[in-house]
Amino acid sequence: MATKKALILENSATSKAILSEIFASTGITTDFVEDPEQALQKLAESDLPYLLIVASSNIFHEHPEEFSLRLRIERNYAHTPLVLLTSHHSDADRQFYAVGYTQIYTRAEIGKFKDYVDQFSTRTAYTKQNQNTVIIIEDDLPQQLVVKAILESHYCECICFTSAEEAIEQSENLQPEVLVVDFFLEGKMTGMEFINEIRRTDHPWQNTPVLATTAMDDPARKYEFLRAGANDYLVKPIETIDLTVRVENLIKYKRLLDKVEEQKEEMHYLAMHDQLTGLYNRHFMASQVGGRIREALRHNIPYSLIVADVDHFKKVNDTWGHDKGDEVLKSVAQLLKNAFRAEDIVARFGGEEFVVFLGHCELSHAFSKADLLRKNLHTARPAGLEVTASFGVAALSPECNSFDKLFKYADEAVYRAKNAGRNRVELAAKE
Ligand code: GH3
Ligand code: MG
Ligand code: MG
Ligand code: MG
Repeated sequence: MATKKALILENSATSKAILSEIFASTGITTDFVEDPEQALQKLAESDLPYLLIVASSNIFHEHPEEFSLRLRIERNYAHTPLVLLTSHHSDADRQFYAVGYTQIYTRAEIGKFKDYVDQFSTRTAYTKQNQNTVIIIEDDLPQQLVVKAILESHYCECICFTSAEEAIEQSENLQPEVLVVDFFLEGKMTGMEFINEIRRTDHPWQNTPVLATTAMDDPARKYEFLRAGANDYLVKPIETIDLTVRVENLIKYKRLLDKVEEQKEEMHYLAMHDQLTGLYNRHFMASQVGGRIREALRHNIPYSLIVADVDHFKKVNDTWGHDKGDEVLKSVAQLLKNAFRAEDIVARFGGEEFVVFLGHCELSHAFSKADLLRKNLHTARPAGLEVTASFGVAALSPECNSFDKLFKYADEAVYRAKNAGRNRVELAAKE
């Protein structure tokens, strides 16, 4: 990996030490010079361009602009960030922006300067560290090559197409960070139509950032592109810095979107699952059953519910400890998971109570399944212990026509099973 370098113009030993300290943890190496002439010489000698230049106002006897103006005409330094560190605030500072300085910090604001350097180091680091894929859709081959060469020399791997149709064909297979799309293309679709197409819900590239390019500098087209869902816009001829800064921003944006999406999925998973056993929880059950029960009642599809409660579970905890109790619950959960079809919903409702919602399953069949499970649980010896459970079974009917009723009847049956000696299956009482 290429070294990232900053050039610092500073002549005070104390300030040099402070600045070294600021850069020390960033992965950016520093070269110090004491006056503008030395700086320009250093820039000319350097094989790799400096990514950042910091100039202390101490070293300029009078005119900081002389340095910035000379720097900006150097081939590699027209766009390099140039920071001026001043000793105190002055209204005259603003003029330095006009002559090429990009940031100005006073010495009292050294903390802010440190934040800037930290941010600067991460913004260059992440693009180098990660593999970034950019898809270029451009019908003009020389132009395609130029864009590809610029991006690949920076931080991206590029995949090129000359028509939107070809690219769309690959949308299931490719997950680019950014799409760079020209307006006129080979094939029937324009770049605008391409954007309209991918911004539809459920398209794999629905959330992929798009940088639109065109040879025509027409405000109407620009706004249409942006309205269609382009994230940014560039008019040809394309400047290297324009392209790289924009693509870099879009990559960052995509990574943030991905992170949010990942967190959303994670939160959804957490909200719908029981942490200990990995089974579904009560919320998931509630979110699923309403529609299925309505459909079952309309089409006369049999549905049953089994409620299982481990017998004398408190004793397991009391005798063997809470961890052993957890182990038992995990084994029981695994046994349940394996005993039912994928379409059935197996959930832990809290404590040592489990609930199974069974589609296309008559009451008598659910009873047999529960009884088999009861026997299997006894012989399985979860966590090496003798464990039994009591079961209650209820079925959907014109009277028992909601989840709450199903659960209430099955739970009452569990209560009867407990009273009748435990390790039993009881059917819900008829209304
Ligand atoms: P019964 O046969 O009447 O159901 O008796 P029981 O002891 O199983 O029922 P009770 O409701 O009195 O006790 C349930 C126990 O389950 C009490 C509680 O501490 C324990 N428990 C609840 N959640 C967990 C858990 O996540 N892990 C462990 N180890 N124990 C739990
Ligand atoms: Mg074109
Ligand atoms: Mg119990
Ligand atoms: Mg209980």
